[in-house]
Amino acid sequence: MSGVEHAPARATPRPDLMQRLAAERLRREQAQLLRRVRTCMPQQGAWVLIEGQLQRDFSSNDYLGLARDPALVAALTRAAHASGVGAGAAHLLGGHRDEHAQLEAALAEWTGRERALLFSTGYMANLGVLAGLLEAGDLCVQDKLNHASLIDGARLSGATLRRYRHADVESAARQLASLPQAAALLATDGVFSMDGDVAPLAQLASLCADTGALMLVDDAHGLGVFGADGAGSLAEAGLGQTQVPLLMGTLGKALGCFGAFVAGPAMLIEALVQGARSFIYTTAMPPALASATLTALGIARNDHERRARLHARIAQFRDGARTLNFPVLESHSAIQPILLGNAQAALTASSRLAQRGFHVPAVRPPTVPAGQARLRVTLSAAHCEADVAALLDALAAVAR
Ligand SMILES: *Cc1c(COP(=O)(O)O)cnc(C)c1O
Repeated sequence: MSGVEHAPARATPRPDLMQRLAAERLRREQAQLLRRVRTCMPQQGAWVLIEGQLQRDFSSNDYLGLARDPALVAALTRAAHASGVGAGAAHLLGGHRDEHAQLEAALAEWTGRERALLFSTGYMANLGVLAGLLEAGDLCVQDKLNHASLIDGARLSGATLRRYRHADVESAARQLASLPQAAALLATDGVFSMDGDVAPLAQLASLCADTGALMLVDDAHGLGVFGADGAGSLAEAGLGQTQVPLLMGTLGKALGCFGAFVAGPAMLIEALVQGARSFIYTTAMPPALASATLTALGIARNDHERRARLHARIAQFRDGARTLNFPVLESHSAIQPILLGNAQAALTASSRLAQRGFHVPAVRPPTVPAGQARLRVTLSAAHCEADVAALLDALAAVAR
């Protein structure tokens, strides 16, 4: 006996996690791809205070300017006084309140679908709908530029994931044909979150009808923005529940609140209640928030003047950008990217705009494909004509 205790020898040398993370961080830093959380304090109008600097905000997804609307604040406060803050439990275990039920009914009615189900976030809704409906052996076909949560949901489901070229219906058809015996679901963003363009929804819907695939549209950026009553890209394209059974919408963007929903035929929504783990195993959203969201829905649906203001700002920005010869993409949504190519160019442009008092984030890989780094300008009904004119002036100055 030596008197020294030795740790038992490891059968295999284990890689050191801390070392790997440090190397990964260094790699990101050197490639100008390090992400950083900054504290942003929204101010009256479309202004934001970032690290002590007051800037005009062109980064928000609050497209209708509802997040700070007094009617929403009043609804939230009133409901919180009546029913408190937390729901206290999951929907299936006592957390489902009258506020949730009312909001679900209103969302179904607005989007022209039989039934709607609330989720805590859009990310969780996409995980829930894909992993809840699909299983190993099934086929999930998705646009290359779909939101990360749709990709992750397909992976979680165990289904075979095949991605098609962006907005390319023939490429989608080839992917569907590649596994003709499998039950299939095709998922697409309605409005693409980094490019701002709208998916070829009608053609994809006929493809799905022809090939027996179920269609899911994630309309996070279309809801409130498109459609006569703001019901989104599907309403704009005249596609109802028969053509596109599953619609996912978020409540944290144009509605200015937080959370998400999936709407569709009662039979599919019931399947989510039974099988969507991100619905079942999580606390219901605060009921007061559901109440504020119901107020937001009323405004988003009926305040046509507000939506018209957003579209006027979009048109103003596009006209100005074209005049200045900026590489803007073909987008009529509130998302107006300016393609700059490499990450450094996008970062430099973003920080020069910040120096002039404009918050326009740079979006870099892996959020967008390599070589497609960009400025992502988002417009809102909260912007006035002078805000957009000032941004165009600043962009022109930065380009020189
Ligand atoms: C924002 C977004 C989501 C996620 O929604 P959250 O409620 O923010 O989690 C999902 N899909 C798309 C296309 C989005 O832009």
